[in-house]
Amino acid sequence: MILILFGPPGAGKGTQAAILEEKHGWPQLSTGDMLRAEVASGSALGNEVKGLMESGALVPDETVISIIANRIEQDDCKDGFILDGFPRTTAQATALDKMLEEKGKPLNHVISLTVDDEELVQRIVKRAEEAGAFARADDNPETFKTRLESYYEQTRPILIYYEGKGLVKKVDGMKPIEEVTGLIAGILG
Ligand code: AMP
Repeated sequence: MILILFGPPGAGKGTQAAILEEKHGWPQLSTGDMLRAEVASGSALGNEVKGLMESGALVPDETVISIIANRIEQDDCKDGFILDGFPRTTAQATALDKMLEEKGKPLNHVISLTVDDEELVQRIVKRAEEAGAFARADDNPETFKTRLESYYEQTRPILIYYEGKGLVKKVDGMKPIEEVTGLIAGILG
């Protein structure tokens, strides 16, 4: 099973991807987590992307495309994987198509979690409060605004691309976590 969990920041992609990983064993591939690990390790790549991430902008396509291309070659991805936060641009979506085509594997579903903007801001503020000293550098209302703009300008348009392929399943992300999990389970059958 190859899934994309799609939606704005704070929609619950990470939460649902972790639940699916636990339930089915398909690894959650979060480009945000992978990039944050690079930043934390102080690697050359981490230093390169740190400023962009802190400002709420997207990192270059080539960077995330190569991270995902390497990651999906690993053994734990052989029975499928869940993409969380990738693709985020048309270039990333077409690069993913090419990778999957080369592997001879189809993309099964694009699960689009829909949540109102006001609710997203509240969730991010809450997430930062709960994380305290460990809060993400980009989980604050000002940077969140930029992240949401990046989403509407660069990411949301790729839904049309996937709609054209008949892959998009919309899920009401405003519902409680367990209900969202149930709705996704219904789609996966
Ligand atoms: P996330 O944890 O998914 O909210 O991602 C946090 C940040 O990492 C984003 O605001 C971007 O700066 C960067 N990032 C994560 N995934 C991508 C991606 N697919 N393309 C570009 N930038 C990304």
